Amino acid sequence: MKEPSETPEEAFRAEVRAWLAAAPRPEGLRDYGGTPELTDVAPGRQWHHALAEAGYACLHWPPEHGGRGASVLEQAVFAEEAARAGVPRQLNIVGPDLAGPVITRFGTEEQRHRYLPAILRGDHLWCQLFSEPDAGSDLAALRTKARRDGGSWVVDGQKVWTSGAEAADHGLLIARTGQERHQGLTAFVVDMATPGITVRPLRQMDGESKFNEVFFDGVRLPEDSLLGELGQGWRVATATLGQERLSLGAQAVGMFQALREVTEAARARDRLDPMLEDRITGLWARIWLLRATWLRALAADTELSSSAFSVLKLVSSEVYRDLGDLATDALGVDALLGPEESPLVRRMLVGRAQTILGGTSEIQRNILAERVLGLPREPVR
Ligand SMILES: Cc1cc2nc3c(=O)[nH]c(=O)nc-3n(C[C@H](O)[C@H](O)[C@H](O)COP(=O)(O)OP(=O)(O)OC[C@H]3O[C@@H](n4cnc5c(N)ncnc54)[C@H](O)[C@@H]3O)c2cc1C
Repeated sequence: MKEPSETPEEAFRAEVRAWLAAAPRPEGLRDYGGTPELTDVAPGRQWHHALAEAGYACLHWPPEHGGRGASVLEQAVFAEEAARAGVPRQLNIVGPDLAGPVITRFGTEEQRHRYLPAILRGDHLWCQLFSEPDAGSDLAALRTKARRDGGSWVVDGQKVWTSGAEAADHGLLIARTGQERHQGLTAFVVDMATPGITVRPLRQMDGESKFNEVFFDGVRLPEDSLLGELGQGWRVATATLGQERLSLGAQAVGMFQALREVTEAARARDRLDPMLEDRITGLWARIWLLRATWLRALAADTELSSSAFSVLKLVSSEVYRDLGDLATDALGVDALLGPEESPLVRRMLVGRAQTILGGTSEIQRNILAERVLGLPREPVR
């Protein structure tokens, strides 16, 4: 029964926690983060089906598309509880968090009907085809071309770091349709089974293979694969990246858990000296600050402003990285074990990626320096 002092978020937390405790886990399910490996796809999909049936998939989507219209705080409560329960919060990030909202906003009625229900149920996996070998931080420099040919589009070029592409059914592509830096970009929805698309997995240093190179050789896309209008690709890209900010503070729960594991690992190896204790305490304080700053930013603006995002992205990815470094010192020589033998070794190896994905730490510092502190702009070469 609801206590008088219970806030709506607390009631939702209790409901979610009870459901997660009772829900049967598909065989082989692990908390794989935002992107499943090939072997995670089957259990991840089964898990997403269960979430969808219980009404916990795509929480933030509007009710007319099957969501609950959940606030950022409710989404975060769900993400925290999923992390605590050791399960992924959905099949992958790109479909529910990125593609769904931009298709809702920029897509035609027909596209919404075609794509949204399969994302909601977890039937289709999506990938984000943005970054290229010479266009990452400077995304507007991308060169993959789409040209009109009769009633279709022909795409040529290369993407890289495409998370989940190997198993993806669809991709959200930004390609160049004109000379102008921003207005020359257009967004497309791509069926990844289209002839001419080659996906080449890249192996990461943690041994997993979550991202890929994707090559387009004369790939013919139908006219209705255009998402939004011709030349609206930059708007679609920025709207997509804007969605990534929603779960930043929610990572704190997983970080506290990792910090406990690091402390235990150090204690078990008799390495818990005052220097290490000092670093553990420092990180503990930074995780609390991350969570408090995030809650305060949400209280001020539920959509989270771009400067608040930059602070949170910077702090969360650097805390994540530092946790990995701390794990190395806590493990001592055991840090040389393979990641399959120790989740802490994996954490250390993936720590670096956090300060790169979704906007590097240097870029966040530039944004804060220029837009918040009003410092002189970086010289443009
Ligand atoms: C785990 C992971 C998953 C990813 N998944 C996807 C995905 O699914 N789809 C996708 O499209 N992309 C994905 N990416 C790519 C990611 O968006 C890019 O790696 C990121 O935007 C940086 O681009 P880059 O790697 O080309 O580095 P670059 O932009 O080449 O930067 C190289 C270095 O220079 C620095 N730098 C660049 N410009 C400036 C500047 N103006 N001032 C100061 N320093 C600067 C950067 O901070 C960085 O240290 C993923 C990346 C990672 C790590």
